[in-house]
Amino acid sequence: MRIGAHVDSTDPLAEAAARSADTVQFFLADPQGWKAPKPREDAEQLRTAEVDLYVHAPYVINVATLNNRIRIPSRKLLLGHANAATAIGAKGLIVHGGHVSAGDDLAVGFDNWRKTFAYAADSGGFGVPVLIENTAGGDNACARRLDALARLWDAIGDYEVGFCLDTCHAYAGGEDLLGLVDRVKAITGRIDLVHANNSKGAFNSGQDRHDNLGGGTIDPELVVAVIRAAGAPVVVETPGGVEGQTADIGFLRQQLGTASPAA
Ligand SMILES: [Zn+2]
Repeated sequence: MRIGAHVDSTDPLAEAAARSADTVQFFLADPQGWKAPKPREDAEQLRTAEVDLYVHAPYVINVATLNNRIRIPSRKLLLGHANAATAIGAKGLIVHGGHVSAGDDLAVGFDNWRKTFAYAADSGGFGVPVLIENTAGGDNACARRLDALARLWDAIGDYEVGFCLDTCHAYAGGEDLLGLVDRVKAITGRIDLVHANNSKGAFNSGQDRHDNLGGGTIDPELVVAVIRAAGAPVVVETPGGVEGQTADIGFLRQQLGTASPAA
């Protein structure tokens, strides 16, 4: 089982080595900005690396919104990131499920997701698996609770689309982790990546505040159970830099009985 961390994008392979990780996730542009990713000088090195790479799309992307001034640039930015992720041989591009504004019809948000995939198909396709991630907060989210996720998948499930399950977001979003993988797979048919994070916020708090696996409000054994059931690669998006994330990865390897790549 592949286990890694979300790391700084300057030298992701060095960050992987520092954590004995065989998987890394990083941003290709400012996560809070609208700038398209630039071609990377280390693209060839990244493409041929033993380390599996995942790209996280910027947080500003919201393809579901009814606001044209957000939705249209979001589509373009997502496609730009898909192309850049393809150029470095990434295994997937993770993007948050997004939301509509208060008072707006969530059904339109799901249809906007469908249009996003149609737009990408017209532009030659994403080129890399797009993994939609569940989110923690908001009353109008497309992928916070499973009832919404089911409606989202009704809209886009015919396209090639994957799912990234974040344990912090699920718990803080109000979904019980016990048996969650089966309930998700009944909707999506797949889980492509697990974001293994503990939560500083309480159950159903709606707070997106990650904690190290041994801290927080989630029983760490429940996170391990989710990973076992999902059978997917794992990325920790936990605090504490090299030290904190190495400890989290070590904890998971020990619990799951998987060896370190350096061992
Ligand atoms: Zn996440």
